[in-house]
Amino acid sequence: MKSFSYNGRQELLGRIENEQYDVIIIGGGITGTGIALDCSMRGLNTLLIEMQDFAAGTSSRSTKLVHGGLRYLKQFEVGMVAEVGKEREIVYRNAPHVTHPEWMLLPIYRKGTFGKYSTSLGLKVYDFLAGVKKKERRKMLTDKEALQREPLLNKKGLLGAGYYVEYRTDDARLTIEVAKTAFMNGVDLLNYVKAESFTYDTNGKISGVYCKDTFTERRYHVSGKKIINATGPWVENVIRKDRTIEGKSLFHSKGVHIVIDSSKFPLKQAVYFDTPDGRMVFAIPRNGKTYVGTTDTEYHDDLIHPEITQEDKEYLLESIAFMFPKVQLGLEDIESAWAGVRPLIREEGKGPSEISRKDEIWTSETGLITIAGGKLTGYRKMAETVTNMVYQQLRPDGMQSTKSVTKHVKLSGGNFEKPEDYSHFIHDRAEDVEKIGISITDAMTILATYGTNTDAVIRYADKLLKETNLPLSIKLTLHYAIEEEMAITPSDYFIRRTGAVLFDIDWVNKWKKEVIQYMAILMRWSDEEQEKHWIELERRIWEAGESSERPVN
Ligand SMILES: Cc1cc2nc3c(=O)[nH]c(=O)nc-3n(C[C@H](O)[C@H](O)[C@H](O)COP(=O)(O)OP(=O)(O)OC[C@H]3O[C@@H](n4cnc5c(N)ncnc54)[C@H](O)[C@@H]3O)c2cc1C
Repeated sequence: MKSFSYNGRQELLGRIENEQYDVIIIGGGITGTGIALDCSMRGLNTLLIEMQDFAAGTSSRSTKLVHGGLRYLKQFEVGMVAEVGKEREIVYRNAPHVTHPEWMLLPIYRKGTFGKYSTSLGLKVYDFLAGVKKKERRKMLTDKEALQREPLLNKKGLLGAGYYVEYRTDDARLTIEVAKTAFMNGVDLLNYVKAESFTYDTNGKISGVYCKDTFTERRYHVSGKKIINATGPWVENVIRKDRTIEGKSLFHSKGVHIVIDSSKFPLKQAVYFDTPDGRMVFAIPRNGKTYVGTTDTEYHDDLIHPEITQEDKEYLLESIAFMFPKVQLGLEDIESAWAGVRPLIREEGKGPSEISRKDEIWTSETGLITIAGGKLTGYRKMAETVTNMVYQQLRPDGMQSTKSVTKHVKLSGGNFEKPEDYSHFIHDRAEDVEKIGISITDAMTILATYGTNTDAVIRYADKLLKETNLPLSIKLTLHYAIEEEMAITPSDYFIRRTGAVLFDIDWVNKWKKEVIQYMAILMRWSDEEQEKHWIELERRIWEAGESSERPVN
């Protein structure tokens, strides 16, 4: 049986050169994995290659909201808000274990960017466009009611607030669950395999990819009828590998987020506000931490590890001081931080905040299909559009009978009849899971994170390695990540399978040595490999926290 694990990866690398794929997707973020899932549901033989880990690009570096993009109403992007707004509900229905309703407070100030009546109307339009259900429709709050919900708000000039529902997600886990679902439906997926160049048929049409396993440096040639460039901020790099260089003029925009312990910033309630210079900021409470972030400064540097500068951090601290004046924070209070980059299509005379987030799809003369832009939230719809196009070209007669069905496909771990069943499931199963020998808190965390895959996680209890001192709950999630979620490096586990480097860096520092030992035994690493993974993780921890000395190269 095929497995979504390191061993399965080796087996797949052994056979990809003999396959004739219908579709090859380059890029394993939410866009690429979403397309892979839709292709698999329509019976297309599909390969996805990702040069880092799945979700290691922008799809683990977002604000982690499944939202309609309220601010785009200001720019009259009604169509996009309506489409993405409706998609929120679909993501929630199919994956309630990674999508949680979050009431958002939008404070209104005298002389602020949001007026009382325009906010009320804007939110009403938003509810209408997104088809929001009755109990989640917007409410308008008085200043007193707003302060009751969030006592830390700046009182000066406060007139009231808009109150509306968005969804909080774990972007990386959402992407991994989409990848797992695609895998279960027959897609071949490889992380740490980079597309390097293209091959063409006698008509000059693109027909294959030379790619490289970044661990062994071994090169492979894979053949495909359709090749899709879903590489987010890297789309132009990939286009440059094609024979015909054409397309849009893109540039990169960076967003940054910082994480603060809730003992220092005890935010009760998610708040969305505009800064005096007109940038949007989200402040969101999450499991004992508060994270704050904003987007949109033009960026020209390293795409793999986008830098968070001291200036970025100071800007966010100033924004916190502006909206929550009672909160006194310094740089030393920032526990962790991340930066993400998105590609934007240049529009004459517009700055990064004003440019549309709409997705764009275009095909080069050689047939390379590129998709850029869009939002995490709209991934399913974007995938549907691209797959419709590809399917029509590959099976011109099949369009009527094979429409996208992903609207109704539950993602791996999200197999609940209705999303409301998720919280009952956690409470009903907690004692049962506790019996394997873990605390009730750990049992609930596993249930909440893995949803209906929990049994697959705890089933490893008898197969775990005895050699390290790791607590059972960590061994279980680590073992599952390696065997069923294609985690290959310690960073895969600590950043994208658990989110701990971002939201619980002390936990990472406490257990990193044992986790690396466990992985080394299971994956038979040499001392040299183990050392390499250790240094790589230390660098990522340093980048996020900058609390220790910079690790050597
Ligand atoms: C700061 C910020 C905040 C955001 N917040 C939100 C939000 O709250 N909600 C929301 O809905 N959207 C949000 N977005 C937008 C959303 O995050 C992105 O639209 C989405 O993650 C893009 O996914 P992607 O798959 O297109 O790109 P990526 O996730 O970057 O994936 C592209 C992948 O391609 C791989 N790749 C590149 N070159 C190659 C190659 N040669 N071979 C193989 N693989 C390759 C990369 O390694 C990468 O993993 C935010 C964006 C930013 C920048």
